[in-house]
Amino acid sequence: AATSPRPHVVLLTSPGIGHLIPLAELARRLVAHHGLAATVVTFTDPGAHSGILSSLRAADVAVVSLDDLPAEIKPDFSDQIRRSIPHLRALLHSITVSSGAPLAALIMDFFCYKALPLAAAELGVPGYIFCPTNVAFLALLRCHMALNDGSAAAGGEYRDLPDPLQLSDHLSLRRADMPAWFQDCTKPDFELLIDMGHHYRAAAGFLVNSFNEMENASAEEEEIKPAAEQDDVLPPAYMVGPLVRIGGSDEDGGAAAAACLEWLDHQPECSVVYVSFGSGGLLSVEQMAELAAGLEGSGHRFLWVVRMPSLQGPDGMEMESNNGHDKQDDPFSWLPDGFMARTSGRGLVVAAWAPQVRVLSHPATAAFVSHCGWNSAQESMAAGVPMIAWPMYAEQRMNAVILSDTVGVALRLRERPVDGLVPREEIAAAVRELMEEEKKGRAMRGRARDVQEAAAEAGATRRRVEGHGAWQAEALDNLHGVGARGVVA
Ligand code: UDP
Repeated sequence: AATSPRPHVVLLTSPGIGHLIPLAELARRLVAHHGLAATVVTFTDPGAHSGILSSLRAADVAVVSLDDLPAEIKPDFSDQIRRSIPHLRALLHSITVSSGAPLAALIMDFFCYKALPLAAAELGVPGYIFCPTNVAFLALLRCHMALNDGSAAAGGEYRDLPDPLQLSDHLSLRRADMPAWFQDCTKPDFELLIDMGHHYRAAAGFLVNSFNEMENASAEEEEIKPAAEQDDVLPPAYMVGPLVRIGGSDEDGGAAAAACLEWLDHQPECSVVYVSFGSGGLLSVEQMAELAAGLEGSGHRFLWVVRMPSLQGPDGMEMESNNGHDKQDDPFSWLPDGFMARTSGRGLVVAAWAPQVRVLSHPATAAFVSHCGWNSAQESMAAGVPMIAWPMYAEQRMNAVILSDTVGVALRLRERPVDGLVPREEIAAAVRELMEEEKKGRAMRGRARDVQEAAAEAGATRRRVEGHGAWQAEALDNLHGVGARGVVA
């Protein structure tokens, strides 16, 4: 018998790879477990990410020039989206026609919020905001929105929240650990944030890459309130994580990736510290030398993904060492003299990229020194690997507080107040603390295994569409079109 086409959802991504990876995984799950068809729309060439998007239907919206904007305006991605709306509208129309099914919903990365009016107001479908970070971030936004509602319209001043802020029973956040955007209400970024929050009110809800165990009380509050009882500060948040592509992706392929995994195969079980700072974390030359010395001094095995150091001095000036042209493309040349030889056999250093999900789930991997990007945190938890938290930018300090204080799966490194550097002794001591059983290692590994179980359970629950709280029945109803909810294996 002829089957009617599956309801179709379109997912809009912003350019960062840390946004694209989990959104692509969400699309895969909507197709595999929820009986939907999905198209991922990028605002760059999707061919550039063919591995991440493999097995998915993808389309791209032409990049629009912003050159005519006045010089004093620093365009950001939201300007790009705003200008792309006519192209996006045309693309949505052609996707709908070619799929033969009406559009069920538009899901967009939280930086794509300028496309929200296309959903509810114009096309009459629910618009969901994909949040690649945590519910705590939304709770923080909610607090700021509630405090500053109407300020801009009234020409009033924005106000800061108390410092520290008790965000929930389990999370007290110092202002210094808040994402930079939230730290100072007199800065233009703060205004932008409040503006984003206002736009978000038109959304049907947030789909958050997180799960209960990572959020504790702040999450329970967000999750259990039925929509009708929510205040109207922000729409409801539904947790859909952890969005980790078990088994890795084709992007992970290649000889260098195979070499990493092969090296791990030859290491004893639970013996290796994996060190990586996501797609954007850069160390200064000095910090790189301290990290090398710290790993060497710890005496433990390690797998370190090295990048070119950031060649900015502390005041943002280019450093003189940039003149050494021979060093420009070779991150290894920035390692201390003799480091590779001295650590040969117990340390592997790879340039630029490792197959992270596979590395974390390898039996030899015991701990993860991480910048606490939220994907890295989810991946580490899905693999049951405790972390050493070394937050660098964006909302990573807040993530580090959640991982160390709320969830109890990470040790946080302390920077030296005088220059912000994490010294070698601090790094070596943290590695030993986590790796050696008689210290904190055993307890933290146990806790990480508990969280791993909770992550697996959260994923399994979301695959069972029917049960209460499963992927949030309400959001699914919307995604399927009213009344079309059903169980899909
Ligand atoms: N990643 C990887 N190999 C690397 C570095 C990063 O596969 O060497 C992946 C990682 O698994 C994660 C993403 O890139 O899915 C980085 O996201 P995260 O939120 O951790 O950090 P961001 O790059 O956004 O700062």
